[in-house]
This record gives sequence, structure tokens and C-alpha cells, in this order.
Amino acid sequence: MADRLLVVEDSNAIAAVIKKIGIALGYEVTTASTLLEVEQILQGDTDFFAATLDFNLPDAPNGEVIETVLSHGIPSVVITGKMDDTTRSTILAQPVIDYIPKENSQAYMYLKRILYWQKANKGTGVLVVDDSRSARNYIVQLLKRRNFTVFVAETGQAALETLKQHSNIKLVITDLEMPVMDGIALTNELRKHYSREKLAIIGISGAKNPMLSARFIKNGADDFLRKPFCTEEFYCRMMQNIENLHNIEQIQTAANTDYLTGLPNRRAFFSEVKSRLQGFIEADFSYGLAMIDIDYFKQINDRYGHDAGDFILKNLASKMRKKLPEALLARIGGEEFAILLSGESQTAIYDTLDDFRREVAISTVDFDKQNINFSISLGVVFNCQLPLAEQMTLADKGLYASKENGRNQITVVDS
Ligand code: GH3
Ligand code: MG
Ligand code: MG
Ligand code: MG
Repeated sequence: MADRLLVVEDSNAIAAVIKKIGIALGYEVTTASTLLEVEQILQGDTDFFAATLDFNLPDAPNGEVIETVLSHGIPSVVITGKMDDTTRSTILAQPVIDYIPKENSQAYMYLKRILYWQKANKGTGVLVVDDSRSARNYIVQLLKRRNFTVFVAETGQAALETLKQHSNIKLVITDLEMPVMDGIALTNELRKHYSREKLAIIGISGAKNPMLSARFIKNGADDFLRKPFCTEEFYCRMMQNIENLHNIEQIQTAANTDYLTGLPNRRAFFSEVKSRLQGFIEADFSYGLAMIDIDYFKQINDRYGHDAGDFILKNLASKMRKKLPEALLARIGGEEFAILLSGESQTAIYDTLDDFRREVAISTVDFDKQNINFSISLGVVFNCQLPLAEQMTLADKGLYASKENGRNQITVVDS
């Protein structure tokens, strides 16, 4: 079921914009235009993932709706037309996700970001390291409002342990002044094991010395906050770091994924294969490297069109994923795929591949009201300890032999 968003706004035009944003992000949206209406909705039904609240409503001109909605434990973003100091402190005195001044069109971009991350943050772990309980708790409650999975550690040592246990931790926020291992020493230690592409570190300190931020950063931190900091600055720094990691992850995924089939591409195959092969050899497993090529694919394109060809490539990829869930799969190029898989014996691996070949050959693919039938040829090497490129050349020889001998078959090549 979709997460539900409660949109409270008395201007129909603005409500429509926010509703549209919510729907675009996959929320199911309920709207209300007065405090009374909100109270009526919440009497029967409080199961909302988040809410956006207009600070100024006809029957609640001073943010009264905030307390009402928060009292039901619904995380809320406040949207306000006026942004004076009193309004700001009224809003920030309450545990809201954030507040957004309605000043300009940026406001709605910002709201969209917040509502997006409110969902996406769910699985992201943040580790707060501070020897002071009150300082820790303060940061923890700020993070919880943003829906992060929060971990705490009282010492640098405990922080290192916690990180080992929870691979979902993407951000460490660490105090500087701590006994035994201080924040800078911790940062330094963390960077021996976790790259900046995988883990962001924000240092915090209340000390006056301006050199500290530089030292934090030179020891591998990504950012620095000086205590006391305001809520806005905290959220801003934190989200920037989370978004950076997310962007790097997306770029890496894109660089390693074949855009058409979603399978790993040649580059990903080469970088992943090594450790898998190593594992198979150490565990004394049987394994096979197979090259696959679709038979007469050019004819399929010519006869049914290029879109049909694309559809078949995607279809074959999803069949591979389904039938060979443990195998490392890749689209090497064009209509050529590679498979690395292990099994109880070479015979078992051969049978798995041959079953797959047969299944492809007897099934038809429905595209644009046409039933298309196609087959694949394979070449495979077993338990080969040569470098990957040489194994692939051998498997390719088998593939070539399969084509020569009439296609729709497997040829095993000795290594
Ligand atoms: P063989 O049985 O000998 O493998 O014959 P074939 O026709 O499959 O082999 P050939 O190498 O002659 O042709 C491969 C064709 O695959 C030509 C190319 O246009 C097509 N192809 C490569 N990549 C794509 C793609 O991404 N989408 C589509 N639709 N076709 C592609
Ligand atoms: Mg209003
Ligand atoms: Mg082909
Ligand atoms: Mg080919």
C-alpha cells in the first residue's frame, strides 16, 4: 500500500501543487483546508506517513494545526507565508521535519526533495558518536524526525564496532572531544576502512579553535559543524552529504549496468568475477564460465523490427535472472551474454545451462501480437584457472563451434 500524505492548505491552488508533488512521489494524498477538517480526519484515521501543514489557516492563524497533527505522531513539514523570527521559533519549538517559506518557486522544489527523502531515508543508517548523552540525544531526535535509522556510540571504539555490524550506516556524525579516541582520531581510523564514496563523516565541536574544522577535514571528514548550530544548518549539511553519496551510488550503478536489460555490463562483470572465482577455487566448488549468443538475431531484427529485438534481449535477460538467480550474469555486448555459475559438479552445471537453452528454444515471446521464437548457442569452460579474458576466449571458441554445428546447443571446451 502506498504511503499516505496529509496535505493541509486553505489555498486550493497551492493544495493542488502539493498534491501533485505527493502523487508524483508515490504518496496517496488526503487534503484538508481547515483545522476543524484536520481534527475530523484524525478522529478516525491517523495512519499517515507524513503531513504538510499550512501555518496560517482560517480557523488556526498561528500554526495551531502543528501541535494537533504532531500529537498523533505524524511527521510534518510546515509551509508558511510569513517568515519572521517569531514564526520561525514557534515552528522550530516543535519537532517538525522542516519548514518551508512560500516565498518562491524554489519552495516547492525543496518540498519535493524533503518528501522524497522522508521515504528514502528509511533504510539509511546514521551513527551518532558523542560521549555526552544530552548532546547525543539532541542529534538523535533531529535525525529521527527525518526518518533515518539511528545508531549511537559513546566512544570511538564502540563506533567502529557498530559500523562493522551495520552495513546500512552511510553517515557518521562525531563529536570531537571524547576520552581515549577523539573525533579526529576516529575519523582517521574510519578512513582506513571506509571510502568517502561509501561513508560520509561530519565532525562536530564546541571548541573555539578554528583550526579544528581544518583538522577534521584533513583527516578525512566531509564536513564540520560548530556547536551550537541551528537546526536548519544541521539538516542542510546532513542532507547534502546524504545526497552526495546517493549521487555517487547512482553514477556507479549507471556505469556498471546495461541500460537496456538492467544486467551488469562487461565492465561490472570483469570487476566482480575475480572475487567470485577466488571463492569457488578456495571452496573447491565446480564452476563454469559460459558465453551465450542469440541465434540469427539479425534476422529477428529484420523481420520483426528493432523494437522486437530489444524486447527479446530484455526477455532473455529476465529469463536468465529467474532461472539462474545465483549466477553472475552480464550483457557483454550486442546479443551476447556471459554467465559465471557454480554447482555441485560440472555435469550439474552443464544440465542447468542446457535446461535453460532448451527452455528458451521452446518458449515464444509475445511482442506486438506476434509470437516470436528464438534460440541461443553457448560455449562453456569448467574449472578453468586462467585469467578471465582467456577463459572468455575459450568459451567463445565453444560458442563458435555451437554455431558451426547448427546452433541451439552447448559446446564444452577443455581448459
Ligand atoms: P548468429 O546466429 O551467427 O549469431 O547470427 P546473428 O544474426 O545473431 O549474428 P550477427 O552478429 O550477424 O548479428 C547480430 C545482430 O544483433 C546485429 C545487430 O543489429 C543486432 N543487435 C546488436 N545489439 C542490439 C540491440 O541492442 N538491439 C537490437 N534490437 N539489436 C541488436
Ligand atoms: Mg493559509
Ligand atoms: Mg547472434
Ligand atoms: Mg553476436
